[in-house]
Amino acid sequence: MAETGPKAAPRISFVSLGCPKALVDSERIVTRLRAEGYELSKTHAGADLVVVNTCGFLDSAKAESLNAIGEALAENGKVVVTGCMGAEPEDIRAAHPGVLAITGPQQYESVLAAVHEAVPPAHDPFLDLVPAQGVKLTPRHYAYLKISEGCSNRCTFCIIPHLRGDLVSRPAGEVLREAEKLVSAGVKELLVISQDTSAYGQDLRYAASPWRDGEVAARFLDLSRALGELGAWVRLHYVYPYPHVDGVLDLMAEGKVLPYLDIPFQHANAEVLRRMKRPAATEKTLARIAAWRARVPDLTLRSTFIVGFPGETEAEFADLLAFLEEAEIDRAGCFKYEPVRGAPANELPGAVPAEVMAERYDRFMRTQQKVSARRLKRKVGTRQQVIIDQVTPAGGIGRTRGDAPEIDGTVSVSARRPLRVGEIATVKIEAAGPYDLAGTAVGF
Ligand code: SF4
Repeated sequence: MAETGPKAAPRISFVSLGCPKALVDSERIVTRLRAEGYELSKTHAGADLVVVNTCGFLDSAKAESLNAIGEALAENGKVVVTGCMGAEPEDIRAAHPGVLAITGPQQYESVLAAVHEAVPPAHDPFLDLVPAQGVKLTPRHYAYLKISEGCSNRCTFCIIPHLRGDLVSRPAGEVLREAEKLVSAGVKELLVISQDTSAYGQDLRYAASPWRDGEVAARFLDLSRALGELGAWVRLHYVYPYPHVDGVLDLMAEGKVLPYLDIPFQHANAEVLRRMKRPAATEKTLARIAAWRARVPDLTLRSTFIVGFPGETEAEFADLLAFLEEAEIDRAGCFKYEPVRGAPANELPGAVPAEVMAERYDRFMRTQQKVSARRLKRKVGTRQQVIIDQVTPAGGIGRTRGDAPEIDGTVSVSARRPLRVGEIATVKIEAAGPYDLAGTAVGF
């Protein structure tokens, strides 16, 4: 590293893998490191140490994590590993015995201790080294807001409760103060995340905590309403479809939260859902979705599904395709079942052969593409609020209220004046593809 003065700050290269929840953990670690005087390096070669925040959910994610650790070791040599894969350190040690330390998810203090030991901080921390809202690894106009850790469900394909423990919610006042700081620092869109957003507060018995001149209960609806009063877009992710979720549709109708629900349904057939230990009332789900759409006609539904779950028959899979069509799921991610080590579902009989799984995956994607294209076509001719993520020579690339960053579609916007990143423009939609839209900014 080039010395720039008598006390050059140590430089850390940070790799963040995995889901938005892991990204929030990374942001917290990076914020602490910056507060302690560390600087960030864009390359491993120019850093004093590399921290790799791993994802260990699926075997493919584990492989990606192990590759990232290997690259960091080859390019730098000093590597600290944290995150979900750190909950089972033996795999990491077997592949890469040279890593300096391994810590598990949310073990912020242990990661920092490992960094301090390998590369001591250059000087005492000054709080003003970090902006009040912390260091965001996402662009400044949107930010992820983590409202709880862990999960008290026990879906049979999932080892997250084993890795991260049962649900632990943050007090509502604390979440709201973080959100308020983000908004005053320029964040225009808050992406609410957790493992199970609608279970928020159960572990706290919904206890109220101080907020502004009064109090706010640690309840999904109370928190969503209070977030909706901060003046930013509020997007709800990982909403498990408990009955009280219906109440959030009123907040959408009032314009307090975005008309968007990310609900991981995982399947539609009652038997498969039972084997997954998910709620199995698909009939009721369809009726509820119809009622939601009647209440909020521009509601966008995003979901994720697993194909090839152990014992999935052709008829059960056909139920899933029919559900996609009937529920008109706007955006859907599809995963082929992977036997994650330690997941109870691995014990179930009837493993689905890889070629059957691949064929079902293709049929799922073809059906989903048709539904998505049909839903998007209805937007042609309408005016949509579009948040601009990126400026281009022709205008910009943005997203409607129905599109989350990184996982959903985009809008290519033509504009006669320069657009700004983070601005919310009114756009007349002129064309629709299977996943994305195009249109022209209006009103100037
Ligand atoms: S709700 Fe999500 S995190 Fe919790 S056990 Fe089920 S799949 Fe895992």
